Amino acid sequence: MKFIVNEIVEFKNHIMKKHLLSALMLCVALAVVGCGQQKKETLMKYRPLGNTGLMVSEISIGCGGFEKLDSAASLELMTMALDSGMNYIDIYDANPKTRSNIGYALQGRRDEMIIQGHIGTIFKDGQHTRTRDVEEARQGFEDLLERLGTDHIEVGMIHITDSHEEWDELDGSPFLEYVFQLKKEGKIKHIGVSSHNAEVALRAAKSGWIEVIMFSLNPAFDRLRGGAIPWDKGAMENLQAGIDPVRVELYDYCATHNIGVTVMKTFGGGGRLLDSKASPLGVAYTPEQCIAYCLAKPCISTCILGIDNLDELKTDLHWLHATEAEKDYTNVGPRADADKGGDCTYCNHCSPCTQGIPIAKVNELLDKAERDGMTPELQAQYDALPHHAGECTHCGACLSRCPFGVDIPTQMDKAKEVFGK
Ligand code: SF4
Ligand code: SF4
Repeated sequence: MKFIVNEIVEFKNHIMKKHLLSALMLCVALAVVGCGQQKKETLMKYRPLGNTGLMVSEISIGCGGFEKLDSAASLELMTMALDSGMNYIDIYDANPKTRSNIGYALQGRRDEMIIQGHIGTIFKDGQHTRTRDVEEARQGFEDLLERLGTDHIEVGMIHITDSHEEWDELDGSPFLEYVFQLKKEGKIKHIGVSSHNAEVALRAAKSGWIEVIMFSLNPAFDRLRGGAIPWDKGAMENLQAGIDPVRVELYDYCATHNIGVTVMKTFGGGGRLLDSKASPLGVAYTPEQCIAYCLAKPCISTCILGIDNLDELKTDLHWLHATEAEKDYTNVGPRADADKGGDCTYCNHCSPCTQGIPIAKVNELLDKAERDGMTPELQAQYDALPHHAGECTHCGACLSRCPFGVDIPTQMDKAKEVFGK
């Protein structure tokens, strides 16, 4: 009898332990699915952001669209993004309008969005500017918190570190001390860095203190220039073939060391990969193929998508319903004569121009005019710019800041010719 009672007690304890464990696991799961801990009816899938403890939506939203919208349209866009299950946003832009629109759109739903905000970006003389000056960085970061209406962000992203020199300069710098101080104060919960350079990103990954890397990744950037097609039809196991070996090492290191990678330029920058005439590969990919390509790498936490308006968001959200056939990118390769490099992705990293020329916008309008032909609308948009390509003095100050090797002064000369000033 005593034996049976003991058995029952033991069984009861076992069940209680099991229930306790399940309850604990449920709490953890609810705690990590977004900051909001709100369960949504969505088809969105979530991935760990490295070892931060955060779970982030496979696709997420960039900040670019919020610069172009008014507050009401920003609210509509954010509402649809959140309701679809997106819980991650990148805010690199220091433009007050962008930040204020995002802050407005997040009112009452701040805890549903994990914010990756950049440290070292300011808006100076009407231009986006990268800085390592502590006072400027402080001013830029405090402005970000204020406009977002929050006292912290989840990921403090050291803005664009593209060369070995820039990475070396961080070491022991007052700027880096400031970043650590922000973490100590709880104003940022995790430290990240954004880079377009795989070697630098790899050094960051190996630093021991970087938890998240924002890296430019898509089928075009991965390809060894002039090399083989990085994949064969159906050869999913051969995903790394034909890819720059440093990039392969970066992806492997981040996967095995639990460093979160958030993808920028998923569609090639400015959506270039979605248009065969604009694509550096000479062929068009669909959004689903680009996203699937990135997410096939185990290290990737989320693809940040440049979304300008509701229609673009709806198009991108097709990802949630896409079939495996729609996601299959393995039958799309580069055209043999394509991928010459040096194309502008409209990323704005070359800013500021010494003459105030909005280089990315000029390049975008120039590309459209050259690709699709000049229209009165393009001319009107160009005329409305605060400064024009004809003001370029060929000073070269922008060149070292372009991660994509664009010959900017030559582009400005072409734009002057096409648009007349
Ligand atoms: S080279 Fe031309 S576009 Fe570049 S910073 Fe100088 S003036 Fe501006
Ligand atoms: S010129 Fe280079 S840095 Fe400037 S917007 Fe184009 S790709 Fe970006």
